[in-house]
Amino acid sequence: MEDFVYLDTSLERWTDIHAHHKEEARQRALSLIAAGTTTDTGCIVTNTTAVRKVRFKGAQYQAYRFIYCALKDVIPSFEEVIRHRCHNRRCINPAHLDIGSRADNKRDDWDYWANGVDFDYL
Ligand SMILES: [Zn+2]
Repeated sequence: MEDFVYLDTSLERWTDIHAHHKEEARQRALSLIAAGTTTDTGCIVTNTTAVRKVRFKGAQYQAYRFIYCALKDVIPSFEEVIRHRCHNRRCINPAHLDIGSRADNKRDDWDYWANGVDFDYL
């Protein structure tokens, strides 16, 4: 039942952020992006070796998920994942991120293993 608790608070937190802290979340997302480094494939990567984490209002988020949800006005359900269309998990460029189901994310992986990334589509 652990997942269920997580699902509940995630929806609650994002509903609260969009209702009461929207501008602050946007500014935080934009400053994370501004602090990143742009690669020659257009990815904006953080200076961390793993996925960057962000603390906001007492909770911790993956930076790319935080940025996507803050800038796109999205309240993600537990079933929804933020996908990296560039397959670079350190990338926080909102243009490279998309929301989808866990099944979509798996299909992305299979497509990536078979075909690689076509950056013309990003
Ligand atoms: Zn990218």
